[in-house]
Amino acid sequence: MRLVLVGPPGAGKGTQAQFIAEHLSIPKISTGDIFRANVSQGTPLGLQAKAFMDRGDLVPDDVTIDMVRHRLAEADATGGFLLDGFPRTTPQAQVLDDILADAGVKLDVVLELVVENDEVIRRLSGRRTCRSCNHIWHVDFDPPAVEGVCDLDQGGLYQRDDDQPVTIANRLEIYATDTSPLVNYYAERGLLIGIDATGPVDDITQRATDALRPLEHQD
Ligand code: AMP
Repeated sequence: MRLVLVGPPGAGKGTQAQFIAEHLSIPKISTGDIFRANVSQGTPLGLQAKAFMDRGDLVPDDVTIDMVRHRLAEADATGGFLLDGFPRTTPQAQVLDDILADAGVKLDVVLELVVENDEVIRRLSGRRTCRSCNHIWHVDFDPPAVEGVCDLDQGGLYQRDDDQPVTIANRLEIYATDTSPLVNYYAERGLLIGIDATGPVDDITQRATDALRPLEHQD
């Protein structure tokens, strides 16, 4: 299955992407994770992306598109993938259509995680990410057993620069102007399924897998 996950920052895309990709046995391709890995390794791509990310701005389309084009050409992505955090602009969506058309395939579904702004702000400001495995915890809603330490691999937890309050406001504004038009873009193409992304994480995963089930055994 070829699937895109959309939703505002803090909708839980990273968390749901992990569960859904495992459930469907497809690779999760998260542009945010790829950028963060490049930043922490100090690669040229990371150096290019860091300032944009720290402000909560989008990394320019040409840089992002190039990166995704390469990732989608890797062997594990030829049979299906879940894109988390891409596309985020209409030009990105158009290029994705072209990349897939060139490969003779198409998107199966775009899953929108629907959450109101004030809920998103509460979630983002309490979010903590594991430095080594990128697992996302929340100080109130999903705390690890030991404060500041990941339950999964004992990695240290940190608050992303882009989860600071001023940056959160900027990211929400950018979502509204640049990314939310994609909801219509995909609705017009008959690809959009929206699910309520509030409540316990397991309930949201259940809604997502229920929504995807009818598509799972299609060719
Ligand atoms: P995320 O983890 O998806 O919230 O992404 C973190 C940051 O990476 C974003 O705030 C952007 O700065 C950058 N980023 C991730 N995906 C994209 C994209 N598709 N287009 C532009 N910038 C992106």
